[in-house]
Amino acid sequence: MIEDRFGRVHDYLRLSLTDNCNLRCFYCMPEENYAFAPHARLMQPAEIDHLARVFVDQGVRKIRLTGGEPLVRKDAPAIIRALAELPVQLACTTNGIRVDEMISDIEAAGFAGINVSLDTLQAGKFFKITRRDLFHRVRNNISLLLERGIRTKINVVVMKGLNDDEINDFIALTREWPVEVRFIEFMPFSGNRWTSNQVFTYREILEAVNAEYETNPLPAEPNETARRFSIPGHQGNFSVISTMTAPFCAGCNRIRLTADGKLKNCLFSKSETDLLSALRRGEDVLLLIMENIRAKARELGGQMTGNFENLDARSIENRSMINIGG
Ligand code: SAM
Ligand code: SF4
Repeated sequence: MIEDRFGRVHDYLRLSLTDNCNLRCFYCMPEENYAFAPHARLMQPAEIDHLARVFVDQGVRKIRLTGGEPLVRKDAPAIIRALAELPVQLACTTNGIRVDEMISDIEAAGFAGINVSLDTLQAGKFFKITRRDLFHRVRNNISLLLERGIRTKINVVVMKGLNDDEINDFIALTREWPVEVRFIEFMPFSGNRWTSNQVFTYREILEAVNAEYETNPLPAEPNETARRFSIPGHQGNFSVISTMTAPFCAGCNRIRLTADGKLKNCLFSKSETDLLSALRRGEDVLLLIMENIRAKARELGGQMTGNFENLDARSIENRSMINIGG
């Protein structure tokens, strides 16, 4: 069992496969010419399988593939096939671009769920956010996942003045689509020029929905990081991930492994433990995992205490989101 000083049991591993991506979301990737890690520095398929098994032996029951864009890795199908053999719920967060090309691998792996990120329903705005003209591909691939009966959620990072006017367009989608739309408060990471006035808060999101719809809170699932709501007559529902204004740290069960094999006990942790180098030297990684989790701070990596409006993002020591694995 992987337990920290506060009695939190960690049974959910978020595994980044790469820091490479086929989009360039401005809030995630610092620069257009960002240098991706060379392939040799990434965990190789056998190393991913080995480390995943160490975590599973210690009680990990859910693995989410993320990145960068996990589905851009050429060996992603082989990695997914190997992880699908483990006794875990396998999930994936993707920008959706390669879902059609990989649909047979996705179906064969029996994913418990796929989260697709889509911040706007307007093709022009999609280009502005991602610097790529691929809106229709993502939208069609969400339809494809639903046609194939795969449990799908849509991640929407809400930013003031950018897409806060589209909240109810996403809600309208849930009338016919059995999806959960997850509105995410904008978070600060290295190089993403976060300022507090760009955050569209949990309260503001709810106010926007309540102005047009009746909403009912849904019971929280264990270790849930989103507050969920249903809307009468809608097949889907929506939730809000309020990391900035009302974090969920007390029930946190997440551990993160970056694509270059560094363990992070929190999305906002300063320190990392280099499991991949230790593994390559033949050292005992379990000892390192336990030490890393024991050092976990009570809240937000110990870095973002106090009101988010007073936060100076430049004082936070971290990597960029694309480099951590969201
Ligand atoms: N490429 C995949 C994708 O876009 O879904 C997986 C990786 S991405 C880093 C994971 C999630 O983090 C996406 O939903 C993305 O929108 C979100 N994200 C990235 N930067 C963020 C930020 N600064 N604040 C909040 N969410 C962010
Ligand atoms: Fe790529 Fe996902 Fe980051 Fe966008 S949010 S740049 S799709 S990793």
